[in-house]
Amino acid sequence: MQLQIIGCWGGYPKANEASSGYLLECEGFHLLIDCGSGVLSKLQNTLKPEQIDAVIVSHYHSDHIADIGVLQHARLIQGILAGTLPNLPIYGHQLNAQEFEKLTYKQITKGIAYEPIAPLNVGPFKIQFLQTAHPVPCFAMRIEAKGKVLVYTADTSFKPELIDFSKDADVLLCECNFYGNLDGKAAGHMRSFDCGTLASKANVKELVLTHLPHFGNLQQLVEEAGQHFTGKIQLAFQDLKIIID
Ligand SMILES: [Zn+2]
Ligand SMILES: [Zn+2]
Repeated sequence: MQLQIIGCWGGYPKANEASSGYLLECEGFHLLIDCGSGVLSKLQNTLKPEQIDAVIVSHYHSDHIADIGVLQHARLIQGILAGTLPNLPIYGHQLNAQEFEKLTYKQITKGIAYEPIAPLNVGPFKIQFLQTAHPVPCFAMRIEAKGKVLVYTADTSFKPELIDFSKDADVLLCECNFYGNLDGKAAGHMRSFDCGTLASKANVKELVLTHLPHFGNLQQLVEEAGQHFTGKIQLAFQDLKIIID
């Protein structure tokens, strides 16, 4: 499978960039993970909105779902131009019913609830969930295809259950919203040190830091995570592609 970073910024997008959005492709199937502000614009450097096969959202904060509405408009307009487009499945949790309802729009997109305790099959992907430690219900995802594993932490402060959940992953796409000298726990986010510790204890092959802060020297995040994890670490950036095979 191939992971492409569409947006990597926490909270809101940097100028001309996007907040959380990740495109995962396997066997020609395109799954968009989270759809934050700016994602629909940046996605189109790679893929037309009508080429997305499914969307899954971790939670309903705007930096992860702001572009769902415009994705729906894009599919509506392109469906009219093309004559027809399949109803796009958007997977989300049901713990916030009002937000979940917005995933369904006419016959354009269809909200489908994932059950946190049950693995979900979407195209070639098998997805498992773990509720994170965040001010609103949010789910990390362990995504497997062709024997390879991507774990996406979504938004969370460090919680020990993440270690087992991320065990032996090929890539850990890990939120890193805080530098090591700050305490992100109250905000529901991880520090660089937490990311390194998680990667090390879970024995992952590669750590990718994302959901990045808007201040400071981002390279410091890599250096601090590296004090706890000796494997490969890189910062997410727009259009970074990672082949997981
Ligand atoms: Zn966020
Ligand atoms: Zn959030």
